[in-house]
Amino acid sequence: MTQGLDTLAATSREALAGIFARHERVFLAFSGGKDSLTVAHLCEPWGDRLTLLWCDTGHMAPHMSDFVQSHRERFSLIKVQPQRPLMDHWAEHGAPADLIPLEHLEGVDWRYPRLQPWSVCCGTHRTWPLVEFLKQQSAPCAFLAGQRQQDQGANVTGIRGLMPGHVEFGLPLWGWTDADVLAFVAQEGIQLQPHHATCGTSIECIICPANLSREKMNLLDRHYPAEADFVRRLASHSLGLAAAKANEIMGVINGTGTAEREGVR
Ligand code: SF4
Repeated sequence: MTQGLDTLAATSREALAGIFARHERVFLAFSGGKDSLTVAHLCEPWGDRLTLLWCDTGHMAPHMSDFVQSHRERFSLIKVQPQRPLMDHWAEHGAPADLIPLEHLEGVDWRYPRLQPWSVCCGTHRTWPLVEFLKQQSAPCAFLAGQRQQDQGANVTGIRGLMPGHVEFGLPLWGWTDADVLAFVAQEGIQLQPHHATCGTSIECIICPANLSREKMNLLDRHYPAEADFVRRLASHSLGLAAAKANEIMGVINGTGTAEREGVR
């Protein structure tokens, strides 16, 4: 833990008190994960002015969707959605992947199928609907997120840059570690998502073939076998394309092969 948990929580509550003093309406990006649950808990003194903002990609695990929506009992909750069904977007721009040979990227299009970086897919389907909602707010307001400095890959600068001018962006857990959050959750008796004991990593979306973890695959195997099969097939396909490209390059470097484009002369 970074510093005394009580000190950490007191600092975050003080920052939140300032935000609620400046704004009548405060929104929290809410996914049902431990970080957004912790921020919601810290906001309880101002719970009547907090609105949970849930971006439903349409592919959240049903038990997680139920868990998220169960928080309507304590807070106001608004569901936002991407403009288009996620699969329609994949059909046009490619499925998300971790490893992508550049020629499969949209705009290059030397080889098909198209693939897209998972960060782009997440931006379109999980971040952008929140930004669009906030743009439509006529009065100044605040937007909170559970991202922490320790999160690898959290594109906070990018999200901050997308925020409309009338929205104050707050990250109450920025200095917290994973251990801090888990200790606070235990201390405060915060109820975590139903699968947390066996899978602590995010499982959104259940059909996502990128950014996988062993514990997510185990969970899909147990509860969503059809989706597990779909994910394996898609991830294996994009990985096969990346491996083929790597082999092509190695063949050229080692003098044992040629680049595919050499064959068209
Ligand atoms: S979790 Fe996967 S499928 Fe869902 S929005 Fe992000 S990249 Fe796309």
